[in-house]
Amino acid sequence: MLGLYLKNPGEIELKEFSSSSLKEDEVKVKLIYGGICGSDIGVYKGKIGHAAYPIRPGHELLGTIIEAGKESVHQIGTKVVIQPNSFCGECDLCVEGKTNICRHKQSLGVNTDGGFSQEFVISSKYVLPIPREMADERAVLIEPLAVIVHAFKKAAITKGTSVAVVGCGTEGMLAIALAHYLGAEITAIDINEKKLEKAQRSWGITPARPQDIKDETFDVVIEAAGVKSSVEQAVDITRPGGSVVLVGLTPEANLPVVKIVRNELTLYGSIIYHFPDDFLQTLHYLKQDGFKVEPIISDIIPYQEYKRAYEAAVSGEYGKIILDFKEESHS
Ligand SMILES: [Zn+2]
Ligand SMILES: [Zn+2]
Repeated sequence: MLGLYLKNPGEIELKEFSSSSLKEDEVKVKLIYGGICGSDIGVYKGKIGHAAYPIRPGHELLGTIIEAGKESVHQIGTKVVIQPNSFCGECDLCVEGKTNICRHKQSLGVNTDGGFSQEFVISSKYVLPIPREMADERAVLIEPLAVIVHAFKKAAITKGTSVAVVGCGTEGMLAIALAHYLGAEITAIDINEKKLEKAQRSWGITPARPQDIKDETFDVVIEAAGVKSSVEQAVDITRPGGSVVLVGLTPEANLPVVKIVRNELTLYGSIIYHFPDDFLQTLHYLKQDGFKVEPIISDIIPYQEYKRAYEAAVSGEYGKIILDFKEESHS
């Protein structure tokens, strides 16, 4: 079985792996699509402190169960997506339902082997069946979209809420897509004019470069750039009484504490999602025809051309790049 293998930062290759046997609660999944995520790029570039090498990358995974252990709750032939962050279920945070910040969390493709391979094995507790009729190109977006669904639970976004999305990478674009579906008035901020144009064309947002925002403020600001200046701007453009939801990861930023206190701003950190709740909510959105996500995916590339796919993803010029593991595409 072939899979990607990241020996050290920057050293990626396609390698033969031996197929592992199943524990009773595990399933073997034959991959259909794997989405390349910002964190895959971080691991590839050696920029994630807790990453372990060598590692098989990949955590945005859609596939079909081809083998199931005796205790698996899911059957062979079921199409599934993966929840790629393990949780112990026993620590104080898990007991409180905060499995996303479990004290013993491990993340596929970051500090434990991921799923960019023809097949991989995982505990059946981390798979979610998806309806047969859902297009693979929508289903593969469940994991990255669940990050946004979770973030949106922090601050109320409904019809007419003024929302600024700072950063138009994949997570930013997904935030725009969801805010659009919920009827918000959206301003998107980015330095990349092509991404702004795409967001405007796709969801009718008001495009702005960072310097274009002068005195305007917003009820809710979603920070999805993960850049120091973007975090600072996000706080700066929040309306008194409003909320900032921080989704991007940047080591530090300067915060105007007096302004935050006097204006009663609320800052939320939001990391990944609760499983299965946020995945089920995401699945619900993806089932709606009016929920437009087609513009998110920029390219679908056969996994044998992983170098080209990684180059495109690393460039930052595109939306989501998907690796295609379907056999029929490469025969
Ligand atoms: Zn991801
Ligand atoms: Zn735990």
